[in-house]
Amino acid sequence: MNAKTHSLGRFDITVVGGGVMGCSTALPLARAGLKVAVFDRRGLGLEASGRNAGSLSPMIKKSELVAHAIEGYQMWMSSKDWLGADIGAHTKPGMIVAYNQTEAEALERLVTDRCANGAKIELISGKKAIEKEPQLSSGITLAAYSEVDGHGESNRTGQVFNIALDQAGADIFSHCDVQRIEDKNGHFEIHTDKGIAYSTKIVLAGGAWLEGMASWLGFSLTVQYKVNQMIVTERAPTLVRTVLGVQNGLLTLKQATNGTIVIGGGWQGHGDLENGAWHIEPEAVVRNLQLARYVIPQIKDLRVVRTWLGLEAVLPDYLPAVGAVPDVEGAYVIGCCRGGWAIGPCLGSLLADFILDRELKLPIFDPGRKIDAKPFAAAGSASKGM
Ligand SMILES: Cc1cc2nc3c(=O)[nH]c(=O)nc-3n(C[C@H](O)[C@H](O)[C@H](O)COP(=O)(O)OP(=O)(O)OC[C@H]3O[C@@H](n4cnc5c(N)ncnc54)[C@H](O)[C@@H]3O)c2cc1C
Repeated sequence: MNAKTHSLGRFDITVVGGGVMGCSTALPLARAGLKVAVFDRRGLGLEASGRNAGSLSPMIKKSELVAHAIEGYQMWMSSKDWLGADIGAHTKPGMIVAYNQTEAEALERLVTDRCANGAKIELISGKKAIEKEPQLSSGITLAAYSEVDGHGESNRTGQVFNIALDQAGADIFSHCDVQRIEDKNGHFEIHTDKGIAYSTKIVLAGGAWLEGMASWLGFSLTVQYKVNQMIVTERAPTLVRTVLGVQNGLLTLKQATNGTIVIGGGWQGHGDLENGAWHIEPEAVVRNLQLARYVIPQIKDLRVVRTWLGLEAVLPDYLPAVGAVPDVEGAYVIGCCRGGWAIGPCLGSLLADFILDRELKLPIFDPGRKIDAKPFAAAGSASKGM
C-alpha cells in the first residue's frame, strides 16, 4: 500500500494540531455529532500544552483576554464536569510583587486596567503581602492580590483529551505528520506521511508551527515564538502559598501539591521549529534561580531536580488568532495566545460555537486583522509581554 495515497477517511472537520487549542475545539464539535479527526505529528498535548507551568492567573493576561481567562480558569476548575477528568486544578491566590517605585506604578496601572475589564484584584502594602506570603523577602513596595488564581497539572492535558475525544467518537491520528493541505473548493485534502484524509472543514491549531500551516492555504500569519524555560526543585515543606509573580514579568513561582517548587520566568532557552525546544541555556537558569531566591530566600536551600523547555507561540500584538481563515471557505485557525493553556478551553469552545453557528459568549480574535510586526527578543535572552 502506498502511504502517500492511502485514504485515512472522510470527515466533517479535521483539526491539525493536538494541543489544548486543537483538542478544546475538537471536543465540542465531536459531541455535537460531527465526524471529527485530530492529527498530531507527535501525540496529543506533547508540545507547549503539556510542558507549560499550568498557571491560570487571569490577572496577568492582556485586558482583552481577562474575561476569557476567567472563563478558562472556571473551566479548568470544573474539568471533571465538561472533560470527564480532573486536571488537578486548584484555587490558590495570585500575587504580583513590586520592589521599587517604577514597578509599583506599573503595577497600579495594570490593576486599574484589569479591574476595568472584570478582574477582581486588590492592591496591598508590602507588609500585608508578607502576612499573606510569610517567606517573601522584605523590600516590597506594593503587591497585587487576587483570590481568582490557581494552577493545574498541564502535563496531563494530552491524556485527558485523548480519553474525552475518544469517548466523543473523534478519530485521533497521533504520530501522523501533516505535510500540506489542498483546498479543493468544497472540501480539503489533508496530505500526511501516513496517507490522505478528506474533510469538509479544517481547523489549523499548530501552536508555534501555525505560520507554516497557514501558508498551505495561502494565508500569511506572522507567528513568533519564545523558547520558555522551566525549573522544578526538590520537594519542600510549605514555602509558597500563592501563585507568585514579579511585576517585571521575569518570574512565576508556585508550589505544587507534591511540595516541589515550579519556577518559570522571562529567560529563554534555545530551540527552533525544525528541532523543537532543544537546548537549556545554563546562564538563564542561574538568573531565573537568582531572582527566585531574591523573592523567596529559602529557595537557596533547595536542589534543582529538572529543567525543561517548550515553544510558546505569540502574534506580534500578543492577542490570539481565533476564527475564519480569510478568503478560504471552511478553514479556521486557533492559537498564539499568551498564557494559552489557561485560556485554551475557553477559546476552543468559542471557535466550536463559531463553526456551529451558535451564539458566542465572548468575542473571538479575527486571524485576518492587521497586525504590525514588532522585533522579538532572541532566544537565550529575557523577555516579557503578557
Ligand atoms: C514552558 C512553557 C510554560 C508556559 N506556562 C504557561 C502557564 O503557566 N500558563 C498558561 O496558561 N500558558 C503557559 N504557556 C503557554 C501555553 O502552554 C500555550 O499557549 C498553549 O499550550 C498553546 O497551545 P496550542 O495548542 O496552541 O499549541 P501546542 O500545545 O504547541 O500544540 C500544537 C500541536 O501541533 C502539532 N503539530 C505541529 N505541526 C504539525 C504537523 N505538521 N502535523 C501534525 N501536527 C503538528 C504539535 O505536535 C503540537 O502538539 C507556557 C508555554 C511554555 C512553552
